[in-house]
Amino acid sequence: MAAPQGKVTVLDPYGFVDGCQRWFQLQEDTTLIALRLDMALRSLDTSLLPSAYFRAYLLCDRQPPSDGNGSYEHMSILRNALLWGSQNKWLERQFRQRRFAKRAISRFMPGEDVTSALDAAENLGESNIASILTRLGENVNSMAEVGEVVAHYMRVLDKVRERQIDTHISVKLTQLGLDIDKRASFVNLERLIERAGELDTFFWIDMEASEYVDITLEQYHEARQRFPNVGVCVQAYLYRTKDDLTKLLDAGSCIRLVKGAYNEPPSLAFPRKQDVDENYFALARQVLEHTVSANGHSGAGGPHAMATHDLRLIDRIRGAATQLNAQRTAFEVSMLYGIRAQEQQSLAAAAVPTRVLISYGESWFPWYMRRLAERPANVGFVIRSMMWR
Ligand SMILES: Cc1cc2nc3c(=O)[nH]c(=O)nc-3n(C[C@H](O)[C@H](O)[C@H](O)COP(=O)(O)OP(=O)(O)OC[C@H]3O[C@@H](n4cnc5c(N)ncnc54)[C@H](O)[C@@H]3O)c2cc1C
Repeated sequence: MAAPQGKVTVLDPYGFVDGCQRWFQLQEDTTLIALRLDMALRSLDTSLLPSAYFRAYLLCDRQPPSDGNGSYEHMSILRNALLWGSQNKWLERQFRQRRFAKRAISRFMPGEDVTSALDAAENLGESNIASILTRLGENVNSMAEVGEVVAHYMRVLDKVRERQIDTHISVKLTQLGLDIDKRASFVNLERLIERAGELDTFFWIDMEASEYVDITLEQYHEARQRFPNVGVCVQAYLYRTKDDLTKLLDAGSCIRLVKGAYNEPPSLAFPRKQDVDENYFALARQVLEHTVSANGHSGAGGPHAMATHDLRLIDRIRGAATQLNAQRTAFEVSMLYGIRAQEQQSLAAAAVPTRVLISYGESWFPWYMRRLAERPANVGFVIRSMMWR
């Protein structure tokens, strides 16, 4: 492939070139790679993506050599770039216009419309896998749009009941107007939980970036006082979660434990992945111990959710549950649609309560970029989708 000609300014805000030089020792190639990456991102022209760069991405999914510090620096370079991209409106416009984009996201979502999501939920149900539905969208900034979101979920709740699918609903508070009017958003939340309760459906509140944690927990605690059918997500990467979890468990809450999907500073979140994993296990144990002491009940209208694709961690948690004599139904394993699908089937076949979160809707870009950030090798799927014209 011929090098691009002419004068091009290379933007390298994430230290990509430096990171590559240190981690892949591709000294001769890296400037060219970064230059092509920049041009490719600007034009989204696949012919500019050099194969060496593609290899670098694939390498990034490997465990880094143990250097005593457990450093994951090379992974975080890519992760940070992708998480930055998730907030970039220009990149979103560019990506959404491309035909390959739909092919690439189809791996993680059955379709943009709710019918595709309900059909997928029904299919999973045939393998004893329950589901959670979420319509993608966050930081909604007009009340008209918020009204549409609420009306949409009301209709979905009816459809779930009509089709008799074992499905929960999961929502982000910024989708219900949190950024515009906190009280109005809470009223929307209560209306949805109440309707879900009437239809015997469990309702989850997602956890968003760290600036929303206080208000999300505040609104959750307030809602929990009135409704038993509501649970909340907490993130193992945050230092504060241990204390939050203690208060939540004491209030009889149903917990979804995740590692955390946003870009948080080291002042708030464990920067090293292995620390996040260890904290996840410690928090999972805290949930199990509390459940056992409460005679096997989570305290709310559903089981706790260990939401992770980390099979080693799931094995450890199942081991701890056996050790503590926890009931088989003390928690469900939750995963995302399209990720570790084979393992989802195996867990369900082994009678482990398993639930899969199915996302749908048109606002998939930030969410999709977060999925890429979780596993940079997923970028390989995007590239393959770009090439398959
Ligand atoms: C049901 C559910 C609900 C969630 N809700 C929230 C929420 O409300 N707030 C929030 O911040 N986060 C949420 N998350 C995302 C979560 O925080 C993590 O970002 C995500 O689950 C990846 O972490 P992991 O636990 O799977 O572990 P990791 O250590 O990241 O992954 C373990 C292994 O799983 C596989 N894997 C993980 N992610 C991917 C991927 N995207 N593509 C392909 N393979 C992958 C890889 O093989 C990887 O090695 C949710 C996740 C799930 C499953």
